[in-house]
Amino acid sequence: MSQDKMYLYLDNNATTRLDEEVLQTMTPFFTEYYANPSALYGAATKPKQALEIARNQTAILINAHPDELIFTGCGTEADNTAIFSGVKCRPTKKHVIISAIEHPAVTKAAESLVSRGYIITKLLPTKDGVITAKSVATALRPDTALVSVMWANNETGVINPIEEIGKLVKANGSMYHVDATQAVGKIPVDFRKSLADYLVFSAHKIHGPKGVGILVVRQGACYFPLLLGGSQEHECRAGTENVAGIVGTGMASLLARQNLPIMQTEVSLMRDWLERQIVNIFGSEIIVLGNKAIRTPNTLMLAIHKANGRELQSYLSNSDIAVGIGSACACLKTPKPSETVKSMRVPLDYQLGTLRISLSKYNSASYGGSFKDFDQLLAALANWKIKRGVVGVAPPKLNKNN
Ligand code: PLP
Repeated sequence: MSQDKMYLYLDNNATTRLDEEVLQTMTPFFTEYYANPSALYGAATKPKQALEIARNQTAILINAHPDELIFTGCGTEADNTAIFSGVKCRPTKKHVIISAIEHPAVTKAAESLVSRGYIITKLLPTKDGVITAKSVATALRPDTALVSVMWANNETGVINPIEEIGKLVKANGSMYHVDATQAVGKIPVDFRKSLADYLVFSAHKIHGPKGVGILVVRQGACYFPLLLGGSQEHECRAGTENVAGIVGTGMASLLARQNLPIMQTEVSLMRDWLERQIVNIFGSEIIVLGNKAIRTPNTLMLAIHKANGRELQSYLSNSDIAVGIGSACACLKTPKPSETVKSMRVPLDYQLGTLRISLSKYNSASYGGSFKDFDQLLAALANWKIKRGVVGVAPPKLNKNN
């Protein structure tokens, strides 16, 4: 709460605020029901049962069977597990297809296979950021072991035709992995219909705790665990369960399902309104990435002519506004455009000027938010635009009455 008062937090694709109900559900599993759920004494009963309740709650959100869920330590672990398992399931095939716009959790795991003799094909999106079924059909080969395409992109929010791609992948006999981390909780995600062998998402993107990933493995699909050790998660992922985190994930999943209509109406309206306001400020100096495609309702990715996204992000941060930029690692000295932006063929002089605004239900009226809350952002952007038009003059102070 206090952070919300200080900050206009608009980086919900990076992480989300933990729901109060989620925290309340988790707390007793730190303080009271802390026994190891694998133990055989009575104190283990409650945590053991709680794990199964959470598994059910989480499975319902994505139309999966509870036994198909494996809780991991993060989305990254779930993605890595899926990729390494997928290729192991087709040992004689040495070709892997991923999209060029995947999160590093997928890209880096897939690229690591090159040293083991794999050939990786990276699919380019359309200029609107979509990975088409046609591009998958063209890239598939008899020796394709695995295809990995994300459900929605983390930078643009653009949604891919997962089911259509699934039909092609399954007809080819390849394993199919779908990173749904940015789709779950924002749009309806139906694991069964997706035809995925492996589907991944992450609790902290749906107002759940950090440190819990969910790997869904289709019943009967081939699977090899990444972590070996104890027999937790039906021998599919060793390591003592993060009971409180998993219990929180169950509650977050339940709430995410209830809140889908808010995402699709109120949040979507706000995003569209905000997009119009920002385009009004910048006119022909701005491109909205992916707005001709179907996007998740909360995401707005902008590219400003000859701007430096990192500098703009820091300028907004001085006005207590948190936004993403979408470009590669902030640790790099020289900023580089993100792979997603490059692969969408965004004109060169816009590529470094990206800004990602990602909303949540907390911005909506149902959760006490209002369109007025964005005045702070619009004023700051208008000021920044004036400032950059006047060479050699210090940035103007943000005027609250703007
Ligand atoms: N996949 C996508 C599309 C993501 O956006 C993220 C997180 O930003 C991840 C995977 C990794 O999830 P986690 O932070 O739980 O490791």
